[in-house]
Amino acid sequence: MTAKRKAKPKKTKSEKDKIAKKAEVKDNKAKTKAQKKQFAVEFYRDWCKGCGICVAFCPEDVLAMNEKGEPEIAKPERCIGCAWCEIRCPDFAVRVEEKKEEEVCEA
Ligand code: SF4
Ligand code: SF4
Repeated sequence: MTAKRKAKPKKTKSEKDKIAKKAEVKDNKAKTKAQKKQFAVEFYRDWCKGCGICVAFCPEDVLAMNEKGEPEIAKPERCIGCAWCEIRCPDFAVRVEEKKEEEVCEA
C-alpha cells in the first residue's frame, strides 16, 4: 500500500498579497539604501587639459565645463558613481570615490 502525499495547502489571495507586499517593501528598502550612497568626484587640476570628455560621458549630467574651460561638478547629488568620467579621462585627472557619511560634498 502506498501512502498518499498530502497536498500542500494553497495560499489564499490575501496571503499571496502579503508575501508580494513584503517583497516589495524589502525591494524598496534595498533601493533606498542604494540611492543613499554618495560619491565624491575629484579633479587633479594640474593634469586636466580641459578637453571636456568627462563632461560628455557623464550619463547623469553631473559635470559641466565652467567659463574658464575647466570641468566642474554642477549637480553632485546626481552622481551614481559609475566612474565613466574617471575611466574616460585621457589624463587620469579624475577620481571618483564613495563618500563616507561624515564627508561634505566638495565641488
Ligand atoms: S561617476 Fe558617473 S555619474 Fe558621477 S560624475 Fe562621473 S560619470 Fe558622472
Ligand atoms: S576628461 Fe580629464 S582632461 Fe578632459 S576635461 Fe575631464 S578631467 Fe580634464
